[in-house]
Amino acid sequence: MQAVAFFKHGDLDQITLSDVPEPVIGPDDALLKIKAAALNRLDLWVLKGWPGLDLKLPHVTGSDGAGVITKLGQNVTEYMVGDRVAVNPTLSCGNCSFCQRGQDNLCQDFAIFGEHVDGFCAEYAAVPARNLLALPDHVPFSSAAAASLVFVTAWHSLITRGRLQSGESVLVVGAGGGINTAAIQIAKLAGAGPTYVIGSSDAKLDLARQLGADVTINRTKENWGKAVYAATGRRGVDVVVDNVGADTFATSLRSLKKGGRLLTVGNTSGPKFELDNRLIFFRHLSIIGSSMGTTGDYREVMELIFDGRLQPVIDSVIPMRDGIKAFRRLHDGLTLG
Ligand code: ZN
Repeated sequence: MQAVAFFKHGDLDQITLSDVPEPVIGPDDALLKIKAAALNRLDLWVLKGWPGLDLKLPHVTGSDGAGVITKLGQNVTEYMVGDRVAVNPTLSCGNCSFCQRGQDNLCQDFAIFGEHVDGFCAEYAAVPARNLLALPDHVPFSSAAAASLVFVTAWHSLITRGRLQSGESVLVVGAGGGINTAAIQIAKLAGAGPTYVIGSSDAKLDLARQLGADVTINRTKENWGKAVYAATGRRGVDVVVDNVGADTFATSLRSLKKGGRLLTVGNTSGPKFELDNRLIFFRHLSIIGSSMGTTGDYREVMELIFDGRLQPVIDSVIPMRDGIKAFRRLHDGLTLG
């Protein structure tokens, strides 16, 4: 079958459109004809690789997929060949103490499609039936694929871990990416109070306002820390969403009210930085990390996607034969959502 895959780690020139073996399913799996896959920044990190990431090569890219079931393992009874399905991008064992408590994103065998195992930028994929979610006929495959990773991650961070309450003010540091465009919508759906968004271009900030942001601040035109301080009447916000890391973390902490929470699921600008601890203990701040989400989170947030109450922002739909172009667009920072 054809797949967008790489045969060794490196830069964009390692991404290929190649023939790779069609996956073989086990008794608890379904074989999917993939109709849509989505890219995430994660795909670029995986392409580069890191110490300890030991992939079977060639590696099929793409953590998000949706498609139609073409074959079922003998133990799978809750689906039929021909069913349209979305896929929870996280894999877990189902048996360990974390899985049994419903915290399957803490599973001892936790893995992500497209990161630790083959992903969905391919004609077919083998998926455990417990990862599937029936996709209603009115929901396009592209919406299901585009939503999965970013919405489950933002939902777990804001709702499950961050316990965002109605009326609380929220600051989202970053406007154009998948997780931030999800976080803005989730904050408003949860009844958040004023929602502030920091961005680097007017186009990204226009999008943020369309998604529900109340106040937008262009960080290329003003000092965003001071702007937040002024816009909140020198009080700061209850919750900051910061997935940027090194470049913004200290200012994000200073933007919090006393007792505020900083939520983080990543660090696009780098993982290591210094912090002044007085900012944290004296002001009773919490830093709350999380990664991906649970199966419960996935099902909850995808139902809201299916109902149209949350909507993934789709930059562009590109045929698989031009998958390399899609990677370049992501790499060059041209994508919105
Ligand atoms: Zn487990």
